[in-house]
Amino acid sequence: MNIPFVDLKSQYNSIKNDIDQAILNVIEETAFIGGQVVIDFEEQFAQAYGVKNCVSVANGTDSLYIIMKMLGIGKGDEVITVANSWISSSETISQTGAKPVFVDIDPIFYSIDEMLIEQAITPRTKAIMPVHLYGQMCNMDMIMKMANKHGIHVIEDCAQSHFSEYKGIRAGLRGVAASFSFYPGKNLGAYGDAGCIITNDDALAEKCKMFARHGALKKHQHRIEGVNSRLDGLQAAILSVKLKSIGLWTEKRIANAAYYYDRLNGVNGITIPAVRPETIHTFHLYVIRTPNRDGLAKYLKDNGIETAVHYPTALPNLEAYKYLGHQPSDFPIASEYQNQILSLPMYPELSKKMIDYVTDNIKEFLREKE
Ligand SMILES: *Cc1c(COP(=O)(O)O)cnc(C)c1O
Repeated sequence: MNIPFVDLKSQYNSIKNDIDQAILNVIEETAFIGGQVVIDFEEQFAQAYGVKNCVSVANGTDSLYIIMKMLGIGKGDEVITVANSWISSSETISQTGAKPVFVDIDPIFYSIDEMLIEQAITPRTKAIMPVHLYGQMCNMDMIMKMANKHGIHVIEDCAQSHFSEYKGIRAGLRGVAASFSFYPGKNLGAYGDAGCIITNDDALAEKCKMFARHGALKKHQHRIEGVNSRLDGLQAAILSVKLKSIGLWTEKRIANAAYYYDRLNGVNGITIPAVRPETIHTFHLYVIRTPNRDGLAKYLKDNGIETAVHYPTALPNLEAYKYLGHQPSDFPIASEYQNQILSLPMYPELSKKMIDYVTDNIKEFLREKE
């Protein structure tokens, strides 16, 4: 059996007619940039999510940068984020001129260790950027409490947590604003780069929208200098079609995670994902941990199973952040786990038979090692 890490083709086949029609309409109307199809998606996403404003942008990375920039974050400021994430979380902090301040991960849930945030706060701290990694939300009660106490913003990186929940509140609804990516492999993915900002702050939404469109809300009326970060019509049309199925796809991911749990719970030699109480983990990724990670990954590959690592080097350990002068021992959990984490195939279209095959192979490998 061959099991790819993600399978965007079978998802396309399940909605092919609607997607093809939507693409054709955009081309026939030559609605390539802006226009009703983009406005429609923004409204649909905002409504589905339960938020006042959705500002579409070119990708998830831009959305983080634009939010911070429009909050006035820049040179001399610090923004706290987590030691294990995709580099967008920290590089966008640097792009504003501010300094990324990393906090180690929680050993159980693999997201920012909330207990370590307060000691990272200085008079220069302007914001905390929690990343709801793998589809699992951070402890937002603790983060909001800390942020309110110190009068700093919370910007949620929701690139991996579309429709995830913490105590009945969706990812992205408690911070001042949140960033989403619609990169093809994300839980809600376009057929190219795409992203958005959500916020209940109307003034901030308008600022972000203006900045993303060269600083002009009306053509040729540039009130500030901005950037060019637009969602194109084709991506908007595709996302509108896919938004209709996101509930079903999320349920299937959760069901697949439950089946992985049935098959892997109690197996010696691996640690399976722990779901934080009172949350809905939407399983963008299904990440296990095992001492001989590279050995297991190779064994699975040899048996036709693709895996990935998110991420093989914790952010502060990357060459890009050498200038900050960190040691791996400054982030002991992230530095240890970067060599142990392994993302197994996870998508709505995964069948029980496929999960049986993956988990049988994992057990086989672990038995051979005993
Ligand atoms: C994917 C991702 C981003 C960036 O999204 P792009 O659309 O690829 O720019 C940001 N943060 C995290 C945690 C991500 O996984």
